[in-house]
Amino acid sequence: MKLYHKILFLTLVQLGAIFSFGIYQIQSLYVTQKAAFDQKNLIQSEMIQKRFEEKLDQLQKTAQILINSQEVVTGIISNDTDMLYNWSKLFLSSSAHKIHFIDLDGTIISRGESEFRFGDDASKRFYVQQALKNDTFLGIDTVDDKECLIFAKRIRQYGERPIGLISVALIIDDDLLSSLVQGTTMNIAYHSENQTLLATNHEALINASSLHVMLQASSVKEASFTIGLASDAELHALKEARTNFFVSIGIALILFVFALHFTLLRHLREYRSISQVLIDFYEDRLDIKEVGTTIKHTAQERSTPEVKKIAEALFNMSQKVAETQDALEHLSSIDQLTSLWNRRKLEEFLDQKLKESERGSFFSVLMIDIDRFKTINDTCGHEIGDHVLEVTAQLMRQSVRASDILGRWGGEEFLLILPQTDTQGACVIAEQMRTKVKHHTFDHYANTVTLSLGVATYRSGDTPNAILKRADTALYRAKNNGRDRVEHED
Ligand code: GH3
Ligand code: MG
Ligand code: MG
Repeated sequence: MKLYHKILFLTLVQLGAIFSFGIYQIQSLYVTQKAAFDQKNLIQSEMIQKRFEEKLDQLQKTAQILINSQEVVTGIISNDTDMLYNWSKLFLSSSAHKIHFIDLDGTIISRGESEFRFGDDASKRFYVQQALKNDTFLGIDTVDDKECLIFAKRIRQYGERPIGLISVALIIDDDLLSSLVQGTTMNIAYHSENQTLLATNHEALINASSLHVMLQASSVKEASFTIGLASDAELHALKEARTNFFVSIGIALILFVFALHFTLLRHLREYRSISQVLIDFYEDRLDIKEVGTTIKHTAQERSTPEVKKIAEALFNMSQKVAETQDALEHLSSIDQLTSLWNRRKLEEFLDQKLKESERGSFFSVLMIDIDRFKTINDTCGHEIGDHVLEVTAQLMRQSVRASDILGRWGGEEFLLILPQTDTQGACVIAEQMRTKVKHHTFDHYANTVTLSLGVATYRSGDTPNAILKRADTALYRAKNNGRDRVEHED
């Protein structure tokens, strides 16, 4: 696995672990909060339920107090409208809007809420019929065209003989609904075939459920109370907080991965370039000197100290290798005895000069041979021979320019390459050389040493062999013509 992928993978695993822990924490918090929220709603629902039951309780209590009153019993028996009115109006409150006294025929004797209205026939009313039949009625019915919660009960004289009915009613209106949900975050709705009422302005109930009301079957169809949340703002805020957290974690993760990606790329790029230089060197695309210069460019101002250090070390190493290579190259190009270029190097130079000449320059070559050298060896010994070779080489070197290339071709034969020199110029130099050696007095050799020299000049299309052959032929002629002379090609 590449270093880049390794670092990215490991970092992501760690981040993933941290973020998973964070997500787990937030999710637990959310679950706890949600449970608290649901608990609160449950408590509120129960409270509303209780309040509703209290309303029904109060209806029944009000009716019971009036039923237990001797005056009421007397009032009903004697049809005393005023007395019933006076008594009942004391009990009218927010928990009892209408109090009716009805005789056994279903005719209203008195109304607690309206002094001068009585005598209506209520015998067809469902709640009247139910109460007359079953003794009590607790449910919903229409009273004076208004849907009400009604408690109706038979009144008995001495607890035995039925003498009439009392009905206590609470109008189902916005006020009633509001009083039930007051102080809570819940809403309550009343729905029947004729109308729909809501305690607050909110149109819908969230998480709605029915209110459990112990009411008898009613003449008003589809009558039901429903409670639910007035608004889901709280739950929404909770969900939003959780979503926001997840989204920010996601964004943070993406940003982090990008930042990591670019940082890694930036830093690894430098290591990669360094290793690429080494690979290029190994695969012969760069030589050791190019390695040095390329490495130098790789480490920049902004590079990390590690990269700078590696680059510096590689640069120094490449310098050293280049120096050693140069030294080896030099050693392998030099003739040990004379310190002139050796034959291998001469051949290289000759190739190079021929190539240059193809592009318009020219040169001459001198093939030089010491005359009767074998005699020197034979008469004075090999060491003296060597000495003569060495000194002759020095003398020859002194007679040429720095740009001329002088080397030992083999034995006591030398080759001189003269750039930008024609035959005439080459002959002049050859002559100077011949004279210089001839007139030199050797330290350990008493006789004069003479040279024979053959000159050849570059011709278009020349090969190394061709030009050397012409120089050799000229040299051969010099030998044949008595030695100690210069000859040039025809
Ligand atoms: P010529 O005038 O025809 O050139 O005669 P020559 O004697 O110089 O020619 P020849 O080729 O017959 O002899 C060359 C001799 O040079 C033979 C060899 O022993 C000697 N020689 C070659 N290399 C060295 C060397 O490195 N040191 C010494 N001392 N002698 C060498
Ligand atoms: Mg010779
Ligand atoms: Mg020779």
